[in-house]
Amino acid sequence: MDSLKIYDTIIVGAGPAGMAAAIYAARAELSFCLIDRSYAPGGQVLSTYEVDNYPGLPGLSGGELSDQFKKHCDKLGCTFVTADITDITPGHIAPNGFFTEIDPGSQGLDSVNELIFMISTGEGESYLTKTVIAATGASHKKAGIEGEDEFAGVGVSYCATCDGAFFRKKDVAVVGGGDVALEDAIFLSRLCKKVYIVHRRDTFRAAKSLVTKADAIENIEFVFDSVSQKISGNSNVEELAVKNVKTEGERVLPVSGVFIAIGITPATDLFKDLVACDEAGYILADESGKTSMPGIFAAGDIRKKPLRQIITAAADGANCITSVEGYLTK
Ligand code: NAP
Repeated sequence: MDSLKIYDTIIVGAGPAGMAAAIYAARAELSFCLIDRSYAPGGQVLSTYEVDNYPGLPGLSGGELSDQFKKHCDKLGCTFVTADITDITPGHIAPNGFFTEIDPGSQGLDSVNELIFMISTGEGESYLTKTVIAATGASHKKAGIEGEDEFAGVGVSYCATCDGAFFRKKDVAVVGGGDVALEDAIFLSRLCKKVYIVHRRDTFRAAKSLVTKADAIENIEFVFDSVSQKISGNSNVEELAVKNVKTEGERVLPVSGVFIAIGITPATDLFKDLVACDEAGYILADESGKTSMPGIFAAGDIRKKPLRQIITAAADGANCITSVEGYLTK
């Protein structure tokens, strides 16, 4: 453990929020590093086939956009660490020079001159930092359909761009009605024979442009007002049974793959005992990124916010660095 170095900030998560924060931190000449457990920076963006709403860079794939972010970080000399963080512990440097933990629920937080966080990793490393930026994003939600767990990886997938190629010339279903479901269906329509989009209501939540685009694709069929009830088959997926919530009519879709795209759940495991979160688990923080715990800032999809897009995640990263600078000079 490097017991001497105390970073100005450590950014946790290398998606658009984390990498934007790194770019701003480098320009602000803060001492920092960015830690992510994945060797491939990008977060959820990596599984986006085509990003068509990031200004100035139309039509790039999620992987290409992430590459651009990473190259920009590299140009500014940002340090990326690949490690699985296990704990973030608030404390301070005691007069004996050692890091001493403080119970975040106690009054101790107010009594220390300078709050320091120790970040411990599964690889056995520890890092000390004055501030932490929580940018761990979110992960795919499970739908709770009968057979979903049984067929996970053998027909049930949460990432069309990762697994779509396994279903070339086959029939598949996408469950969900948001941007991701429509994007996935459009992507899959180029590989698969037929794509059903199964949505529980009769209007999509997705952007109108995506709905128009999907509607014009011949091998995409919208299955509205329908809940998915059972995924079945022998060793692989063969059917998805759905039920119309208005007519109660049941239908069996003969599919080899079911792509679940019903939204995301915030990746707050590391932070939920340190900062206040809403009932869905998102960290409560305004645009400044300030959380209920001094020194911890939240950026990107992990934050409670009205619009979760790559551009809003990147904006959060920038805002957090301004807040960190304000906090450090206070
Ligand atoms: P989302 O916008 O939350 O949509 C989830 C969809 O799944 C909704 O249509 C919802 O139905 C449906 N759903 C939720 N729970 C369900 C269940 N148990 N069973 C069946 N259907 C269920 O999620 P998303 O599409 O994954 O997108 C996540 C976030 O990323 C969004 O904020 C989105 O805008 C953003 N995003 C951004 C970009 C970009 O920046 N280019 C690209 C893709 C996604 P209801 O409509 O009935 O609630």
